[in-house]
Amino acid sequence: MKTYRHLFFDLDHTLWDFDKNATETLHTLYDQHNFARFGTFTAEEFIRVYSDINRALWRLYQNNKITQQQLRDVRFVRALTKLGVSEADIPAGISSEFTHILPQKSAVFPFTHEVLGYLKLNYRLHLITNGFNDIQGIKLASSNLTHYFEEIITSEQSGCLKPDPRMFAHALARTGATAAESLMIGDNLECDVLGAYNAGIDQVYFNPDKRRHFNQVTHEISCLSELKNFL
Ligand SMILES: [Mg+2]
Repeated sequence: MKTYRHLFFDLDHTLWDFDKNATETLHTLYDQHNFARFGTFTAEEFIRVYSDINRALWRLYQNNKITQQQLRDVRFVRALTKLGVSEADIPAGISSEFTHILPQKSAVFPFTHEVLGYLKLNYRLHLITNGFNDIQGIKLASSNLTHYFEEIITSEQSGCLKPDPRMFAHALARTGATAAESLMIGDNLECDVLGAYNAGIDQVYFNPDKRRHFNQVTHEISCLSELKNFL
């Protein structure tokens, strides 16, 4: 078995429970703006429509088809328009409110703190995240994760996004790690798993929903506690 020295973690959907935190935030916005007054959609419908639209826009952003600003500008307008709210009734600044509230949420996946505390005794831990600098820093602080990591590599600093091999090359250079002694742990088959594979780095696919797939991965886990079985 390989001896790893550097563990690179993804943040969103791997450690920080993005969906749970986003759902809480959308509930807050629904209540604060009293969307129930329209009488046409529930908080759950708002969350479902927003999430579908956001996911599609993120795909465009990751393929460099739209900018971060366009992503932030358009998602609430599209979701609320689709739910029948007229443009005039869409609260100005709702997107910035979301961006402000979300990273202050602290839900993480089960065993996150326990496993990171255990791994930190024997490995050097880092983050590689496609998120934005400002937001990712707040999330780490809110969920008390910052202290586990030596280097936090964001796409904004490195000027590219996972799975771009340059992002992984940048991470190795920043940490002084070699590909052979590194392991990438993430929830996304393309960004994390394929990206790391193409950079010559072993991968752990974090698959909490046990989705079917046909990709070759070095390790697969459905709970973070399983990392202790081989690390
Ligand atoms: Mg992720």
